[in-house]
Amino acid sequence: MPGNKDVLVYMRERGRKLFLVALDLEDQVGALADVSTRMEKVRFNVVSGFVSAPGPDDVGRCSFVGVATDRALTASGLKRALEASDKVVACRVKEAHRDILVDSFNFPLTWNNGDRAVMLRVEFFSEMKQTIHKVLQSGADVVLYELGYEHGAPSWKSLLSDFSVDDAAGLQEVLHIYDAVGWGRVEVVSFDKPSKTATVRMRDNFECSVAGGRDPSSHFVRGHLAGAFSAVFGSEAKVVETKCIAVGDEYCEFAVNL
Ligand SMILES: [Zn+2]
Repeated sequence: MPGNKDVLVYMRERGRKLFLVALDLEDQVGALADVSTRMEKVRFNVVSGFVSAPGPDDVGRCSFVGVATDRALTASGLKRALEASDKVVACRVKEAHRDILVDSFNFPLTWNNGDRAVMLRVEFFSEMKQTIHKVLQSGADVVLYELGYEHGAPSWKSLLSDFSVDDAAGLQEVLHIYDAVGWGRVEVVSFDKPSKTATVRMRDNFECSVAGGRDPSSHFVRGHLAGAFSAVFGSEAKVVETKCIAVGDEYCEFAVNL
């Protein structure tokens, strides 16, 4: 899938020599290039990983999983090669256990602003919705909407506390947070702040990608968007889903206060 954001969880490849590396790096230009060169020299081929900006301690962090193309490379050999760099503050390396390598080095999972996050498969949300529907039946959609709203409104209020959204381009940029966290790809179709109205589309909305049926299916995300627009407009917004991928439309579309 092109352009996806690959979060390091685990790797499993039979018969290949896999290593996990976690590094603390000096906050210096060229630090990452230096460790890349050292990994290349010992023929360690990185296949996934991440780089974090330096924190208050002025130490940058990065972590990689990869394959040793030289079968003679050991975890301690790779560690020695990396520790030889004066850019490396700390280094940990481990090898796969019987073809499986899990990221046990990097915890907790955070947004890049430091807020803690957890990862769940999209299917979990689908099962949660089905369970709520089974228990509450006709009240389920309202509960999901309220869940979205009660989470979305304060989150967006906090996010927008130090800057205001005045035009469609500004709105588009902040709503891309939904893209960044994997909920769906948002496109602002119209935005009129004085009249407190807007239309937005969401492609690949996670909530509706696992649903199917005759009705628009986005209740949690719709509630969350209502929370977002309540923060943008400074008064409670109502959101209606007018198109939905769950009923065969190309995208989900949301009308705000229309
Ligand atoms: Zn939908």
